[in-house]
Amino acid sequence: MKIEAKKKFGQNFLKDSAVLERIIQSMPKSDRIVVEIGPGLGDLTQKLIEHKDVIAFEIDRDLCHLLRQKFHKQIQEGRLKLVCSDVLDHWQESLVDQEYDLIANLPYYVATNIVLKALGDPKCKNILVMLQKEVADKFSAQPKEREFSSLSVLAQSVGDAKRLFVVKPDSFQPAPKVDSAVLLIQKRSNLEDEGFMRFLKSAFKQPRKTLLKNLAQEYPKELLDRIFGQLGLETTIRPHEATTSIYHRLYETLKETIDGKAERTATTGNTE
Ligand code: SAM
Repeated sequence: MKIEAKKKFGQNFLKDSAVLERIIQSMPKSDRIVVEIGPGLGDLTQKLIEHKDVIAFEIDRDLCHLLRQKFHKQIQEGRLKLVCSDVLDHWQESLVDQEYDLIANLPYYVATNIVLKALGDPKCKNILVMLQKEVADKFSAQPKEREFSSLSVLAQSVGDAKRLFVVKPDSFQPAPKVDSAVLLIQKRSNLEDEGFMRFLKSAFKQPRKTLLKNLAQEYPKELLDRIFGQLGLETTIRPHEATTSIYHRLYETLKETIDGKAERTATTGNTE
């Protein structure tokens, strides 16, 4: 069967064996299984199953048909489990019921969402993924760098994020329009608080404005002035200049104050 790459599924097949080898060399040392999202034509899958058992999720039925034939033996032996559907349809709290490392050349249209899901998934221990270089930079940037964003804070909140290497478009078929990069996030914990994500969204809403101005669109200005004072934060600080620990302290203090106030109102009925 002739396979045409489908744009709607973000299909850019990695055809560069040197890059495939570098991804394998970068795999975290562990006994965990690998989850691969979007095995495509199976080139990365082939290398992965030489080292680990793999569970792979593929949305495209034509590719699934091809993969079933190509990996007939490994599927029978139980070294590869192929799930033919949209990975997001399966992702409850955890994607699978055992600890795993996520290793994949991700479909770019949904790559950020997939990494965020993996950061929150308690069974996911490491993330080694190829995605758009610009997105890899956002996840791995350090405070004060131009790319430092809510994604960097989220990644640093659960572990260490590193952009390992850049991959040029001609390593893929068809070639994407942008550079790609391999990102490694070694997790220590999980993202648990949805409220923190919403808080970060407001903090970075307009990256060129001050952090205080951005937050003031969501929280009372007097409260923010007080908390900035307590934490010794300059009111002129921009979102990319604050560190991950400052974001956590700001959020915790805001939450405590707002929750405490709501509790007092509920018990006394006093809205002042
Ligand atoms: N791993 C292959 C490689 O390296 O050549 C293919 C990578 S290609 C960038 C992305 C793959 O993800 C495609 O096979 C595509 O069909 C699949 N895909 C896209 N959206 C998906 C989804 N929501 N769930 C599962 N697979 C998806």
